[in-house]
Amino acid sequence: MDEKGAADEKRMRLRYAGTCRSCGADLPAGTDALYERSSKTVSCLSHGATSDANRLPHPEAIDPGVPGASARREFERRRVRREERIRTAHPKLGGFIHAITDDPQSIRSWSAGTIDRLDHVLASDLPSA
Ligand SMILES: [Zn+2]
Repeated sequence: MDEKGAADEKRMRLRYAGTCRSCGADLPAGTDALYERSSKTVSCLSHGATSDANRLPHPEAIDPGVPGASARREFERRRVRREERIRTAHPKLGGFIHAITDDPQSIRSWSAGTIDRLDHVLASDLPSA
């Protein structure tokens, strides 16, 4: 193995949590990641030293310093939790409700009776488990 000229990055399992230097993603301890010895920084496996393009931030990466970023994260977190709640409460209907509306207000305004009726309508179309 000739290490000269090769990137001083190596793939390893992180012993400590870190942050990708390219996109800022959290890299929990135990994650496989690339470690750059010269700078003692880590990056996701998708960010090698192979090309400059890979060093560009992910388009969806959120800079923690940008105002509103935490609000957006909180929104995303709540959206996911809401979807999980719906799916848990209405296993058959969860995906359906989520598909027709992404607005918590309109879901809240649905009466239990409406959901029960829909449940029956859908159940009649579903093969019995
Ligand atoms: Zn990354």
